[in-house]
Amino acid sequence: MCAVLPRLESVPNPPATTDAARDPTHLPEIGREVAARGGNLPELRSLAAGCRGCDLWERATQTVFGEGGQDARVMLAGEQPGDQEDLAGHPFVGPAGKILDKALDEAGIDREGAFITNVVKHFKWRPSGKRRLHERPNAREIKACRPWLDAELGLVRPAALVLLGATAAKSMIGPEVRVSGPAAPIESELAPFVIATIHPSAVLRSVDREARELAFGRLVGDLRLVSDWLASSGRSGSGPRHA
Ligand code: SF4
Repeated sequence: MCAVLPRLESVPNPPATTDAARDPTHLPEIGREVAARGGNLPELRSLAAGCRGCDLWERATQTVFGEGGQDARVMLAGEQPGDQEDLAGHPFVGPAGKILDKALDEAGIDREGAFITNVVKHFKWRPSGKRRLHERPNAREIKACRPWLDAELGLVRPAALVLLGATAAKSMIGPEVRVSGPAAPIESELAPFVIATIHPSAVLRSVDREARELAFGRLVGDLRLVSDWLASSGRSGSGPRHA
């Protein structure tokens, strides 16, 4: 069953956004309420910087909020920031981000014109010697962080949403969604056009060059569905974004 983007205007009784009420454990809900009353992305980003909605902030460097314009046609959502993103404070700037940049370029999608984010905004990791190894966020952490993504979606209202990897896809659409084959449009209220594809890090994890080229080709092919749809629906220019 498809997850439904909550109508921002119908969020039940959010806490008042006075400074006194900005309990950092409630910030995700407060952020959703700020978006519902017409706030903006810098305001949300500022609130999210102090979020304590789950325990992940404790071992991460900083909140890595989504980046891009509020008028972006395409939103891409991955799982969580990685090691380099955590240090830099920006999404998809590490090795997986470079793969994504290349794939977007080959698919004819301008990264600068897209909004790029993650379903979880803090880096979850475990130590391995001097390295910090990625750990998948659990259902409780994803749920705690969901209001931030709802707020981003509510403000940006992208024409197309690309869910990168199984964690993002299953959390936003449902457990039945698969990213193991070529993408197909998913019926969802999240955006007029929604697809789920592999996370760019899957290209990096490929066992050999042939597998890497196959995975990269798959990612580019799926992203081309988006650019083709934007062009055919007249949304690649300055037309209406979200029906
Ligand atoms: S992962 Fe999300 S909910 Fe948890 S502390 Fe970070 S921003 Fe808040």
